[in-house]
Amino acid sequence: MKKQKLVLLLLGTGLFMMMLSGKIMASDVHVHGEADMHIVLENTKLHVEFTSPIFNLAGFETDRLSDSQRKQLDSVKSKLIDSDKWLDLKGGDCSLTQSKSGSSYDDSDSVIDHSNSGAHAHHHSAYASFLFMCQQPELLTQLSVSIKNEFPGIEKINIQWIVGNQQGATIGVNPTVMINFKNE
Ligand SMILES: [Zn+2]
Repeated sequence: MKKQKLVLLLLGTGLFMMMLSGKIMASDVHVHGEADMHIVLENTKLHVEFTSPIFNLAGFETDRLSDSQRKQLDSVKSKLIDSDKWLDLKGGDCSLTQSKSGSSYDDSDSVIDHSNSGAHAHHHSAYASFLFMCQQPELLTQLSVSIKNEFPGIEKINIQWIVGNQQGATIGVNPTVMINFKNE
């Protein structure tokens, strides 16, 4: 039991450091059907990051986009950035101050190098990230994620979170995934 707690703590610290250094994207494992979320509350700032293989969101992951695929991808990105539609916070008096979404197609630098590994040559991911400012962060009790209805290709969401001195991991398989930050 104690050992597990220590491991979680170490994982959490690493996660937090990665989020701070902006390296979180590269650390995610690309598995079709799965999406990743990282949630960190740091004082009054709540960072929420979502990453998914584009295959889950658009049904393709080709190397070169056709015009219609490009349009489809634009629509995916605008759905992702619309956090009102799929993210809900309970308590904390938090308001959204920054948001962005994008994909590995946007920036050729972030496309996985084909010469390195044949197995992963054609994978692409999309992401959305949000920064909320919370007036009463200690009262933030729950975050719910309802994105699987919009994107049925997402079979499960791997969620890791650090909120105050609490942290946890949730594997979400329901249409709406609730993450409770306060332990009963
Ligand atoms: Zn892929």
